[in-house]
Amino acid sequence: MNELVKRVRTIGEAYGETKEFERKGLLKEHLEKLIKNQEEKLGMKHFGVPIFVVTMDIFDKMYEDGRIYIQYLDEKIVYHELGHFYFDRLCKNLGLDFRKGRRKYITKWWEARNHLISEGVATYFEREMSGDEDEFNDSEYPETIEAFLRNNLNFLLKLYYEGGYHLVKPILDISVEKGCKKIALDLPKREEMVKLPEYRKRILRILGESD
Ligand SMILES: [Zn+2]
Repeated sequence: MNELVKRVRTIGEAYGETKEFERKGLLKEHLEKLIKNQEEKLGMKHFGVPIFVVTMDIFDKMYEDGRIYIQYLDEKIVYHELGHFYFDRLCKNLGLDFRKGRRKYITKWWEARNHLISEGVATYFEREMSGDEDEFNDSEYPETIEAFLRNNLNFLLKLYYEGGYHLVKPILDISVEKGCKKIALDLPKREEMVKLPEYRKRILRILGESD
């Protein structure tokens, strides 16, 4: 094998290295350090420590009920999944049954809404740590519900992740805890889904008033 080929890490190799790290007892400590970094940077507190499962056997599932599934150690992925963990626990503590829904199976407007909010919050937890720019504009939000459900995959991925992040960022910048709580308790209504900048304005106004 030539040098160039050897230097390219496959997912299998990255998985093997992460497993080795876990065997040596170094993984847990490292993940706890990432949790602490995130708490400090975002000024919030996680609800305990999730269970991390290192596995190659992941199908459309990265976070589920207190467990984060990773194929290998990647800080961006860990920070993103910690966002799902935080929002899930927060909703449960508030007594809410918030179902995220999987993009593949989104057929109803409220599934699109929950997916947008969930990925928006998780992308916030990721991007604020990585320092990646917000590259979405308000003018890119759809003006019909149909556009959330039936559109090309690239557009939908951009909409749910980057559009979700762009939606919640000004709210969570005020306070991650207060912002997430307010959003969870006051999700966009059907008519607000096609006027998302107005939804954001409404939430920001209420948060401003409660200060
Ligand atoms: Zn996600």
